[in-house]
Parts: sequence; structure tokens; C-alpha cells
Amino acid sequence: MIKTNWHTHTKRCGHAVGEDEEYVLAAIQGGLKTLGFSDHAAYRIPYPPERMDISETTGYFSSIRSLKEKYKDQIDIYLGMEVEYYPEQWDVLSEYRRNLDYLILGQHNVFFDRVSAYSINDPDTLNRYVDMLEAACEHHLCDYIAHPDVALYRYQKLDGSVRECAERIADISLKYNMPLELNTGSGVHYGMHRYEDGMRYAYPTRIFFEEFARKKCPIIIGLDVHDPKRFLDDTDLNRALSVISGLDCNILEDYDLPEAAKKNKALFY
Ligand SMILES: [Zn+2]
Ligand SMILES: [Zn+2]
Repeated sequence: MIKTNWHTHTKRCGHAVGEDEEYVLAAIQGGLKTLGFSDHAAYRIPYPPERMDISETTGYFSSIRSLKEKYKDQIDIYLGMEVEYYPEQWDVLSEYRRNLDYLILGQHNVFFDRVSAYSINDPDTLNRYVDMLEAACEHHLCDYIAHPDVALYRYQKLDGSVRECAERIADISLKYNMPLELNTGSGVHYGMHRYEDGMRYAYPTRIFFEEFARKKCPIIIGLDVHDPKRFLDDTDLNRALSVISGLDCNILEDYDLPEAAKKNKALFY
């Protein structure tokens, strides 16, 4: 099992289970030394199955901060959020940027609550998804990009258009020194799916990581935990690793994300 995980949810998002403390206890039991909470960011408009309500943010912050103190001798806990690049929510995002230890970018929609990343199946929309990642990095909104290949969830043919997008993301990663995540969450948990060009996991996808490996982009493994039990089971991690087997990926093991966040915060606008 890995020692550090920056991608952890809580039940506030509406699709995770367990109490905050259960996540901490399971992480300790699983041998983690560093645990980052990064629940789905709340915005001014509620969206119950996808993210916490904005009224729950104060409780989220205080709960994680008190667990950080309570378990400080056993595990290092950090408080973050998983955000999207949504210019119309910039006031809320700016506050998270200022107040939290770090932010990860999980661009679940191309526009605010429109055009789900899980529904993309054409090169133009895929490129627009990459435009959002680029804009987020340009503004130094985030400290790593979660599941950069989530936009291939419904993409039927992993053709040249996909490789071009992978290259674009790799270049963004290098330009902004932005780690890219190998996500071991629901993309592998529910097994392989049939696409027009064959069977594969929804994400991570090998074609993206071929480009990331070729360009030596920094990679961070993220468990994307929505259930404390996942800290105690390597099955999904091994599935994700099988996707990139044989590739010479630049996987960072002890990356100090909060330290990187301090530098990115200073550049945020
Ligand atoms: Zn989630
Ligand atoms: Zn997540």
C-alpha cells in the first residue's frame, strides 16, 4: 500500500460513506503516514449527489482540523478540496485557495454544471476539457490534476485525437510543474467496460500515461477514497498500476503537496 494519499472524500459529498474519523482510522490501519482530505468543493448553487452544500463547509473544515490535532502523533492530516475551474464561482474558489492547505483539480464538467466530463465523445469537447485544465493551471488554482483522463469515461475510440490531448496535458504539466494523478478510484473499481475499440477501464487509460511517461511528467497516485475500507484493500491500486505496467512513469512518492501549494498560492490570481 502507498504511504500518502491526497485524494480523500467525506460523506458530505453525497456519494461517499463513513464518518470522517473512520477514514483517519482506516488510513492509519492501512499504514498511511500522510492523509489529505479533498472533498468535492461546494459552490453557491447546490448539487446534492455531486458535492457538499456550501453550508457544510465550516463543519468540514473544523472536523478535519480537529482530527489533525487528535491524531497528530500517528498521521499527518491536511485539509484540501477537489475543485473545478469554474470562472463564475471564482469568489468561492478564491476563498478555498486562500484558506486550505492545498487544492486538487478534478474537472467533472466542462462548464459550470454543464457538459459532464463523463459524457464526452468528440475531439472538440475533449479539447475544451483540456482548455479548462490549462486555464486552472494558468491561474495557479490547483496543486495537482486529479484523474486527467476522466474525460475518456465514454470516449469510444482512443485515436489520434486522444493522443494529442494527452500530449497537451503533458505539456501543461511540465510548464506549470503540475503533477498528474494515476487515479485508483471508481474508474477501475467497477471493472473494465466495452468500448468501440475494445475493453478497458474507464480511467486511468494507458494512452494518456504513454505520453506522460514519454515526457517524464510527475505522477502522483491518488486513491480517490469514498469509503474508508478502500484504505485496507490494494485491489484497485493494483488494477490502476496494471494499466501503466511497463511504462517508465515518473511516480513521485514523497511529494510535499502543501509545500508546493504555498508557492502556487502566491501566484494565484
Ligand atoms: Zn466523488
Ligand atoms: Zn475525487
